[in-house]
Amino acid sequence: MKAIAVKPGIKNSVNLVEMPKPNVNEIANGRGVVVKVLRVGVDGTDKEINNAEYGAAPAGDDFLVIGHEGFGIVEEVGPNVTELKKGDYVVATVRRPGTSIYDVIGTNDMTTDETYFERGINLRHGYLSEYYVDDAEFIVKVPRGLKDVGVLLEPMTVVQKGITQAYEIQRRLRVWKPKRAAVLGAGTIGLLATLVFRLRGIEVVTFGRTPKPYLNSDLIEDLGAAYVSTENISVPDYAKQHGGFDIIFEATGFSPIVFDAMQALAKNGVLVLSSVTGGDKVIEIPADKINLDFVLGNKVMVGTVNANREYFETGAKDMAQAVLEYGDWLLRLLTHPVSGLENYERLFETLTNAKGAIKVYCEVAAENFNEESRPATV
Ligand code: BGC
Ligand code: ZN
Repeated sequence: MKAIAVKPGIKNSVNLVEMPKPNVNEIANGRGVVVKVLRVGVDGTDKEINNAEYGAAPAGDDFLVIGHEGFGIVEEVGPNVTELKKGDYVVATVRRPGTSIYDVIGTNDMTTDETYFERGINLRHGYLSEYYVDDAEFIVKVPRGLKDVGVLLEPMTVVQKGITQAYEIQRRLRVWKPKRAAVLGAGTIGLLATLVFRLRGIEVVTFGRTPKPYLNSDLIEDLGAAYVSTENISVPDYAKQHGGFDIIFEATGFSPIVFDAMQALAKNGVLVLSSVTGGDKVIEIPADKINLDFVLGNKVMVGTVNANREYFETGAKDMAQAVLEYGDWLLRLLTHPVSGLENYERLFETLTNAKGAIKVYCEVAAENFNEESRPATV
């Protein structure tokens, strides 16, 4: 079968490889699930892997099959898989267990191991291939009614984890009920964070760089949230004029804005950081002032990476609620399909250069997706 792979450590090495189709018996205890891949989303992580900024091949291979935002259909299950059957739509989690206590209790996303295993990212092959096999434990069923938007589930889990962790932390306050949220960044993660806050009835201001109107600001306003361009006002100035935020979700990929966000929190507020920033930016900040406000206001800042099975499950539920509440809103995020694994060059060119792209994804195999309601394949 075909797959899209890179040679880790070599810039721009993305290419097509041929490899054997996986077998259900590769997984122990009759728990294997073979999945036929339908769609795979790509994001900044894939860009950075192809740019040789990180990513490692599995032991014994000199290439890494990329793609961690998979969506597919079950083709075959082992004799001890009772929770899934042929024909089910599924998404697989990304990280696999290491050895720390957090891995042992099933929370691999919280590992304290130095080395982590992530399919399509680090030491494990990903999903940009015709098929993959894995243990049923890591494969999550997607309701049939979400098949057109199932490829958004993995990015959705990043948001689910961040927000759930924030609520867990805020149990310290006993009566915490956030009224005002800010989302920094209006890309896929920022849009999904805005959605999740709105589904919880929270007032949201989403900050992006681009002045409105454009598709992303329209999508935000269609959720009843406000869109503010940081070209017009900085995040701290906005908070000074309109009041601080109870919760802020940072998803810009631009680390200096973290210190702006720290200055826009209300008392007892929580700031969630989700940007993976591989660079080495250095900036000057008003350290005393930021520290003082944090201390006097009992504020919290928390980092979040990856997501566990539970966040895939709650993510699917929120997506179902989103369809009921906001119709085709999720579908509108699927702006840039690229058809066929063999078009990997166009996939990366679209990911790097396409103007107005929200979600770029590979249409690996055809299915009866809703043809009229999605954009034509580029
Ligand atoms: C993925 C996460 C992963 C993180 C760090 C993100 O792009 O969505 O699953 O943990 O990169 O590798
Ligand atoms: Zn990702």
